Amino acid sequence: MFLDLDHFKDVNDTQGHDTGDQLLVEAAQRIKECIRDSDTLARLGGDEFTVIFSELHNGRDVGPVAAKIISSLSKPFVLVGQEIVLSASIGIAVYPEDGLNNTELLKHADQALYVAKNEGRSCFRFFTRSMQEAAELRMHLTSDLRYALRERQFELFYQPIVDLANGAINKAEALIRWRHPSHGLVSPGVFIPIAEESGAIHDIGDWVFYEAASEVSKLVTSYPGFQISINKSPVQFARDGDLQGRWIDYLRQLNLPGSSIVVEITEGLLMNTNPAISERLLKFRDAGIQVAIDDFGTGYSSLAYLKKFDIDFLKIDQSFTRNLTPESSDLAVCEAIIVMAHKLGLKVIAEGVETLEQRDLLKLIQCDYGQGYLFARPMPVAEFEDFLVKSVAQSAIKSTIVL
Ligand code: C2E
Ligand code: CA
Ligand code: CA
Repeated sequence: MFLDLDHFKDVNDTQGHDTGDQLLVEAAQRIKECIRDSDTLARLGGDEFTVIFSELHNGRDVGPVAAKIISSLSKPFVLVGQEIVLSASIGIAVYPEDGLNNTELLKHADQALYVAKNEGRSCFRFFTRSMQEAAELRMHLTSDLRYALRERQFELFYQPIVDLANGAINKAEALIRWRHPSHGLVSPGVFIPIAEESGAIHDIGDWVFYEAASEVSKLVTSYPGFQISINKSPVQFARDGDLQGRWIDYLRQLNLPGSSIVVEITEGLLMNTNPAISERLLKFRDAGIQVAIDDFGTGYSSLAYLKKFDIDFLKIDQSFTRNLTPESSDLAVCEAIIVMAHKLGLKVIAEGVETLEQRDLLKLIQCDYGQGYLFARPMPVAEFEDFLVKSVAQSAIKSTIVL
């Protein structure tokens, strides 16, 4: 069994290493209480543990034990008077069917763990052969990723962000696509994590910025004040080098105000206590580049941080939008987010708007912007430019009718 504590790094980053260490000790204690004396528990490093279960009649019998460990680790940890809530993910490989030696068993348990983490964490998975195929695909992609930029295999798609009050479109999100020579269009959900792991994300992220900035400089001639948002992975903030400075210089060179670009980051980044990271974030603000919190509502957030970093937009996560119906609790959550955001001077964008009902409810609770398949899917740049021309023509017709 390969076990990994979810978001342990956040605890280390926000609460300090001493607290992190105490938490590991307590976690080990809890795991130990779930297993037999004859089993072997070890910490491999970081927040990774392994358990060897010997003398099992049936490998599947560790399923309930895994469930018990996960449930035990999901109870709050009380350390230095603070409650910390964690979860754990587990991958399992069984001897002899999943491997004949410890190297193979560990490798396959690790592949199963990767799947458990990707399927929402706080769960366990038994190794299967298809996981191995997926792991092999990841290995190929990791290696192919090194040439993808040079071979010009990346492309930015654009998805309009609609002003809910009047239907106007003066924002869009840039979403990267990889045209792989043999695998076709690979989605960022698949290759961004790989790029983050291998470090390729730095060059890719740079490319995304320059590409989006060039596009926005083209668009502002017909649509003054147009804004394009780009996604920035937390990994990109970890690297030194004056990336912010170069980006800001480039915008100046194009004669664009900082506000033509919005950087979308995740909540976790705000909570990071590394001063270098906050400095980089504030540098964007000083240059007028706006910042949006992506997938808002799914992670930890502190209102104080929204203020401290002068955040401009909150993007309500799709999981809330999806279940919006009158009287639903998600509607109450969205409304609360919007009221709070407005009090703090932030604008709100709802993601994943797919139906008219969702749009109307969002309008009703004063949500500022909507983005989703209802309005348009992410499109290649030429199609997106056509879309803008058409939507401007349409709104001109509409406003004449109103007049
Ligand atoms: P995200 O930033 O949350 O982007 C929104 C995702 O939701 C996009 O998936 C978009 O195509 C999809 N989407 C938009 N409207 C709807 C809708 O109405 N319903 C549903 N079900 N989905 C909708 P996509 O393009 O596959 O991107 C996935 C994720 O990959 C993004 O999530 C973002 O985190 C990441 N990503 C995309 N481009 C970049 C990039 O250039 N750099 C980095 N670091 N990450 C990127
Ligand atoms: Ca985004
Ligand atoms: Ca999002």
